[in-house]
Amino acid sequence: MLPADIHLHSTVSFDGHNSRTEMALAARDRGIRTICFTDHYDVVNEKNEFVPVYDWTPVRREHQEAVKALGNSIELLYGLELGNAPANFSAAARALEEPGLDFVLGSIHNSGQELGWSDYYYVKFDSPELSYVWLDDYFTQEERLVEWGNFDSLAHLPYPLRYIAQRDGQPVTLKRYEERIVEILCMLIQNGKALEVNSGKNVHIMPEYGWLLERYRDLGGELVTVGCDAHRSEDVGVGLGQAYDLIRSKGFRYITVFRGRKPCPVRL
Ligand SMILES: [Zn+2]
Ligand SMILES: [Zn+2]
Repeated sequence: MLPADIHLHSTVSFDGHNSRTEMALAARDRGIRTICFTDHYDVVNEKNEFVPVYDWTPVRREHQEAVKALGNSIELLYGLELGNAPANFSAAARALEEPGLDFVLGSIHNSGQELGWSDYYYVKFDSPELSYVWLDDYFTQEERLVEWGNFDSLAHLPYPLRYIAQRDGQPVTLKRYEERIVEILCMLIQNGKALEVNSGKNVHIMPEYGWLLERYRDLGGELVTVGCDAHRSEDVGVGLGQAYDLIRSKGFRYITVFRGRKPCPVRL
């Protein structure tokens, strides 16, 4: 059995491929006990446009269908991946008024205003110098997000490396940001926020979690969430076992799931 995967997308995300019911069936078949759907609300979206209001209607419908289809055979939590909140904190806060919300992931997927609110996915990173300009800005966005703090777990901290290193092959690491990252981790810990290990499709990103977890633990951090970030049913559960092993090897005995936005430990 795999205890929990609390970062999953469905067709209510612009880039999702399967319904919540299909995703949940795949998770149950792979022996996952608890999952949380965290479809995207990006305050600035993938077209770099401001989205002032999040429409929960299709989300509620999809979720109800999955709950009906799956019954008690798996625990289905109700979450949100809140992207780019620093673009407009009041729009972000409004989306979180949804009743029954279990869990909120805080993410940065786009640059700040100075770089045009650009989605990293569409940026061509063709030199290390250019990559560091974008990373400098990324950590400014992360700092603003963490200072605001209205989320439960900080999602995929090494995210831009998915495109900079893994896709575009630039030899950059996060080590030069270590001081700023330590500050971010301290703020998370002070405010009772979790750090996510994002286990999916990230050969270049997973190694970064080793030292991030060590720093987080040494600073007194205890709350670690795990999610594979699958956008299609065949990817559900990808890398979970590896992520649990890594977390255990760094001295954590528990991972965390959130119910009603409260942290609940789950023994590893
Ligand atoms: Zn994300
Ligand atoms: Zn995601």
